[in-house]
Amino acid sequence: MSEAAAEVVAGRFEELYGAAPQGVWAAPGRVNLIGEHTDYNDGFVMPFALPHTTVAAVSRRTDGVLRLHSSDIEGGVADLRVDALEPESDGTWTAYPAGVVWALVQAGHPVTGADVHLASTVPAGAGLSSSAALEVVVALALNDLYGLGLKGWQLARLCQRGENVYVGAPVGIMDQTASACCTAGHALFLDTRDLSQRQIPFDLAAEGMRLLVVDTQVKHEHSTGEYGRRRAGCEKGAALLGVDALRDVPYDGLDAALDRLGDEEEVRRLVRHVVTEDERVERVVSLLESGRTREIGPVLTEGHASLRDDFRISCAELDLVVDTALSAGALGARMTGGGFGGSAIVLVEVPDVDTVTKAVKEAFAAADFRAPRVFEAVPSAGALRLR
Ligand code: ADP
Ligand code: MG
Repeated sequence: MSEAAAEVVAGRFEELYGAAPQGVWAAPGRVNLIGEHTDYNDGFVMPFALPHTTVAAVSRRTDGVLRLHSSDIEGGVADLRVDALEPESDGTWTAYPAGVVWALVQAGHPVTGADVHLASTVPAGAGLSSSAALEVVVALALNDLYGLGLKGWQLARLCQRGENVYVGAPVGIMDQTASACCTAGHALFLDTRDLSQRQIPFDLAAEGMRLLVVDTQVKHEHSTGEYGRRRAGCEKGAALLGVDALRDVPYDGLDAALDRLGDEEEVRRLVRHVVTEDERVERVVSLLESGRTREIGPVLTEGHASLRDDFRISCAELDLVVDTALSAGALGARMTGGGFGGSAIVLVEVPDVDTVTKAVKEAFAAADFRAPRVFEAVPSAGALRLR
C-alpha cells in the first residue's frame, strides 16, 4: 500500500477517464485471528488487517453517472446511473461498489456519481475479504469526496447493507469493520452487537513469532448453501433457547442450554461452537493483554477443532494444514473465514517458519492437493487516504 501503488492506479485512472483523480484511497483485506461464525450471532470477533490492499482512484461527478473499472477484471468501464441502481440486478463484480453507492443514497447521503478505477493485491475468494476491501475503499473515497463525515464503523454498516441487500450475500459485519477500523500492530476486538471495539496490541515480530496464512486455493462448491444452513441453525438455537442471539447464552450456562435443546443434535453442535468460540475470543484478548502471546496457540487450535467437529465447516485441505503444521512444531493453527476451503492461519516461532512451511507444502503434494500459497500476515493499517 505504497505511494508507488497510488501512482500506478492514479495513472491508469487518468488514461481511462481523461483527468487526474481527485484522490486515491486504500483498504485492506483481513484475517480473523479468532471468533469464527460469531458475527451473525451478535458475538465477538478479532480480525486484523493484512498488508494486501485494494487501491482506488476516485473523482466525484454531479450528473448521476457511476463509472467503474477494475484492473483485475477483464472488460471495460461499466457505465451505470445512480438513480437506476436496483438490488440483486447485477451478478458481476460491479455489484459490490454499486451496492455501496446504493446504500449511501438509501441512507439519505447526497451521492451524485463517481468515476472509480481500482486495483487490488488482496487475493479474491481466498477467505481474506477482497469483497470488503473493495466496498470499504469505495465508501471511504465517497465519504471524503462528498464530505459525509461518517466514521469507520458507520461506513462498515453501509457496506454490509450494500453486500446484504444489493449484492444479495448474507454476510456479517466483521469484514467491513476490520477493513475500515483496524490499525497496524493490533488486532481488533469487536463486539458485533454494538460495534464497540478495542485495539489489542498484536506485534508478533517483536516477540519472535510469525503468523502464516496458508491459502489452500480451493473453494468447495457447496459453501454458500452450507453458510445459510449454519445461520438458520444458529437462529433456530436462539429461538429455542428464548434469546435474541446465541451471544446471550452465557458460557457457564452452556451445559444447561444444551440440555434444554434435547435431541436437536445439529442445533446443539452449532450452539456449542458459537458459545465456546465467544469464550475463546475473550481468552485470547486477555492472554494478549497480559503479554502471554505464545499461549494463544492452543486456543486457536481448540477453535479449529470446534469448527471441524461441531460447526462442521472444515475440509480435508484445511485439516491437513492444521495437523501438519502442529506436527511440524507450530504453536497453534486453525481454519479462518467461512470454511470449506479458503485459508488457514498458523502461529509459529521464527526458527520454525521454514520447517512448518515445507511440511505443509510437502503434505499437500503427497495428498495430490493443489499447491497452497503461504505468506506471512503482518497486522497492518486499516483503510486510509493515500493522496
Ligand atoms: P472474499 O471476500 O473472501 O475474497 P467474496 O466471494 O466475498 O470472496 O468476494 C470476491 C468477489 O469480490 C470477486 O468475485 C469479485 O466479484 C469481487 N472483487 C474482489 N476484488 C476485486 C477486484 N480487485 N476487482 C474487481 N472485483 C473484485
Ligand atoms: Mg467476501
